Amino acid sequence: MLEEFEIIDMHVHTYPNSKIGLQAMQGTGVSGMTGTIEELLQNMGNIISKAIQVNMTPVREMADAALKKLPKNLTPAENKEEEKKIIEKMTGRNIRRNDWTCDMADKHEQLIAYVSLDPLCGSAMITELLDKVKNRNVKGIKLHPGNGRFFPYDKRMWPVYEKAIELKLPIITHSGAFFTPDNIQYTQPKHFTEVLETFDDLTLVLAHLGIGFYEESRALAKKFDNNLYFDCSRAISSGKMWGILKDDQAIELIRDIGVERVMWSSDYPWCNPTKDAQKVASLNFTNEEKNMLFADNAKNILKI
Ligand SMILES: [Zn+2]
Repeated sequence: MLEEFEIIDMHVHTYPNSKIGLQAMQGTGVSGMTGTIEELLQNMGNIISKAIQVNMTPVREMADAALKKLPKNLTPAENKEEEKKIIEKMTGRNIRRNDWTCDMADKHEQLIAYVSLDPLCGSAMITELLDKVKNRNVKGIKLHPGNGRFFPYDKRMWPVYEKAIELKLPIITHSGAFFTPDNIQYTQPKHFTEVLETFDDLTLVLAHLGIGFYEESRALAKKFDNNLYFDCSRAISSGKMWGILKDDQAIELIRDIGVERVMWSSDYPWCNPTKDAQKVASLNFTNEEKNMLFADNAKNILKI
């Protein structure tokens, strides 16, 4: 059934080996997948032609863990110095992870790289973005306000939004529920309002259709009909996860938002790409709508 479509997966995560992949999922993966390149490519087979790696580095989480380990008897000045060193170290890790993602895209023509940025890195975010655009073939920017514990309207992010417009790069961001309950507040779709009001020309993709906050996504889509898009990973899935839409709800919501603004994706390895593509193919969309969801909208955004 899938053979008749061109299929692009707008949202996957890849890891150097299965141990790291499983660690990143922290036991939340229910797909039986582990996140390696080989496994992903095998799953894609000749059915899914391209997959966008929206990898990220848990910069904030790692920095907090390191800060907790600092000796308690440091003076405020010493503490500040140590904090600076920790942030530099985590910034380095983020850069190396981005490099690895680009390496994988260079090596496998089916894979595309996005560059992951975190406001904890400060102005190094822009340096990293410009470096990756100039020297590597990145096609977009990945943000994760939930993991980084920042609101999308955080003014530290303004330079990133400005540069994204200037460089004509789309931004994909996590939106909706997240497996660390304390962090959910950061990624509610409504928190993107000020960003969308301020940056008319920004191409913004809210991942997971704002899982769990679908009415906020719907309202946002009505208010901003320009450059706001969604991916439907997790929201429509063959797996059994929290917040998944029922078939008729999924069709109603996507049509109401506009089929031309929603892209199919899997969030591999949390979900199984081929099985999730089959799930969307089985829904009662027209073939024209399926073509839009599977590839046309993605190609529009990626300009490929
Ligand atoms: Zn994801």
